[in-house]
Amino acid sequence: MDEDEAGTPPRRRFVVFSLYMDAILKAGGLPLALGSFPASASQLADKLDGLLLTGGDFDIPPALYGASDIHPSVKTKPQRTEFELKICQEFLMRDKAILGICGGAQVINVAMGGTLIQDIGAKIKDCLTHEQPPPRSKPHHKITIEPNSRLATIIGGATHMNVNSAHHQAIDKLGEGLRINARASDGVIEGIESNHHHFCLGAQWHPEFHVDIHDKDIFKAFITACTR
Ligand code: MN
Repeated sequence: MDEDEAGTPPRRRFVVFSLYMDAILKAGGLPLALGSFPASASQLADKLDGLLLTGGDFDIPPALYGASDIHPSVKTKPQRTEFELKICQEFLMRDKAILGICGGAQVINVAMGGTLIQDIGAKIKDCLTHEQPPPRSKPHHKITIEPNSRLATIIGGATHMNVNSAHHQAIDKLGEGLRINARASDGVIEGIESNHHHFCLGAQWHPEFHVDIHDKDIFKAFITACTR
């Protein structure tokens, strides 16, 4: 806290990494950062063309997907999650474009009734390191793309991507109407998409770093879906 702020009550701040907004701009879109106010979710969904759920260095409270145990590594931001789940549901109801990145992919899954692995290392024996050492601008593991998925079409039929990885959780049981579109070699789900929406895609990696040549295709497809 700097000196001017001495005595000021604590205030929340909303932070978004510029890479997400740069990626939207590069793909031809106009990015707007939102505060997380659950009561504004419905009106925002009326006005905006698309929703990028960025996730962050926190987890969804496990009770929200029916888990009664909490792994010690779980960190939550309940108000932000409440907003993200609400706005995700509002966009789903309107069938407007949604792209979920990392924690944002997990939001899509939970919004549609799915569950999460609270800590990959605790659940999957011999798993890859899904939290890579810095820098995140380097590829860390390969993913295999499911043929005949929307993601496969978006990336021009490529069968693999080399992606970064900065997550300790992953999708467990799929939400209603979702399908897997990518996996890592240890079986961890790296991508999901909705069968019933015109564009609802979740990536467990961070395409905004443009680590793989096809990362940009995902943003292009998202912006195209926003401008339909
Ligand atoms: Mn990973």
